[in-house]
Amino acid sequence: VGGTQAQHDAVAELIRAFTVSADKLRAIQTHFISEMEKGLKHHGQTVAMIPSFVEGRLTGQEKGTFLALDLGGTNLRVVQVELLGAGEFTTKSTKYKVSEELKTTDAKNLFRISGTLVCYGWRINLLNRLIPIVLVRSIDFIADSIDSFLAEHGLDAAEEAIPLGFTFSFPVYQSKINRGTLKSWTKGFSCPGLVGKDPVVMLQDALAKKHVPVFVTALVNDTVGTLLSHAYRNPDTMAGIILGTGTNGAYIENMKNIEKWDGGSTSSNEMIINMEFGAFDNERRALPLTMFDNKLDRESINPHEQIFEKMIAGMYLGEIVRNTLLHLIDRELLFSGNSSKELNEMWSLETTYMSAIEADADPQLESTKNILEQTLSIPSTTLTDRRIVKKVCELVGTRAARLASAAIGGIIAHRDALEAGCACGIDGSLYEFYPNFETRMYAALKELFGEGVEKKIRLGLAKDGSGVGGVAAKMFKSLPV
Ligand code: ADP
Repeated sequence: VGGTQAQHDAVAELIRAFTVSADKLRAIQTHFISEMEKGLKHHGQTVAMIPSFVEGRLTGQEKGTFLALDLGGTNLRVVQVELLGAGEFTTKSTKYKVSEELKTTDAKNLFRISGTLVCYGWRINLLNRLIPIVLVRSIDFIADSIDSFLAEHGLDAAEEAIPLGFTFSFPVYQSKINRGTLKSWTKGFSCPGLVGKDPVVMLQDALAKKHVPVFVTALVNDTVGTLLSHAYRNPDTMAGIILGTGTNGAYIENMKNIEKWDGGSTSSNEMIINMEFGAFDNERRALPLTMFDNKLDRESINPHEQIFEKMIAGMYLGEIVRNTLLHLIDRELLFSGNSSKELNEMWSLETTYMSAIEADADPQLESTKNILEQTLSIPSTTLTDRRIVKKVCELVGTRAARLASAAIGGIIAHRDALEAGCACGIDGSLYEFYPNFETRMYAALKELFGEGVEKKIRLGLAKDGSGVGGVAAKMFKSLPV
């Protein structure tokens, strides 16, 4: 990066802190596998390994038209999916804007709003600043959205209740294909009053109240949906992974390995497991956490939770970079020791900025300059400053990709699926848009499994996982609804 000896030394120190060596990667993979196995054996483990009640495999020949509802990402989506057979499907979807209210009231008052799902998180406003927001997602609003979707698509005259797959991207302990209780919130959402409640019951009640002829037949985690949607096109799909705001994975497990299973007899010898691996190593035994990760965790709304997710997912990577830059600024090794009001604000450095900085191929790093000086209002930057910032993004982005591969590698090794080969469906903006994310994932997989790994483990973008997966789950009728 050039610059002074002190800058050089500081960057070398960061490289040491953020680099996950091949040996470390293997150690993480090994620990990941033992945590998976613990979760399969006993209830209530760190990696929850939740049986999804989705059994068997798709062939790609399934046909039919279904409805799906996707809640948990950034929008509420109602989707009509038509499975055409031969792995082909079409979707028609409508996004409904959820009412957002900027509130300064303390959380306690907000939770008094009855019948309302209250969440808070962060959003970018029109000035490109991250602002704390309160999302008020009324369950009634969801029922209304489904109702207007039915009218829009001429489905409101149906004689029988229309089946709907509900994709919900938060940890739920399932008790049936369409029943479960919310374990906890993740990804910056919080509404303690709803933990322990069944999201399906809430939705079904709201639908009944409004006489909307829809029956929730499946409750599916987004990872399970991603797996199913990818499997519809690629029947040898073994896993579904989310690399978006949060991170998590699902894979197909042998019933005989799910020692804790107490859900009665099944008609297939396989079931999809929603791993909830964002919580992997909350005990901090294997992950190479830095002081920058520790600061993020301490300041987050869920300290000591989702430690693995906080090193990988889109919601957090920018914040790790921000913490690292502040540390360099405090040592007067960056921006001549200057910062800005914006940069001092938590969450102000979005992961999308890292994407832009990593993609900046200009010799003067003009886009990087623009982000730092315009968007983040740093008074001035030198080329060395910008190179250091780019290096930090590369280190944090690479570490995330490698850790994601340790998880995928753990699944593949646990299932002994390397030789036979398998596909892995991945959904999320980080995987789709972050420069070189996939290349870095493959590089790590190669270190774990050797040359030619890309022919055996085929990573691929699983489009529309939440929609298609939600309905595909409905195809599995083996367990009573
Ligand atoms: P969700 O997971 O909420 O369903 P996404 O998969 O779109 O939605 O993930 C959103 C996350 O991805 C955000 O944290 C955002 O910062 C990050 N993100 C969005 N676009 C990009 C991009 N181009 N590069 C890197 N990260 C991105």
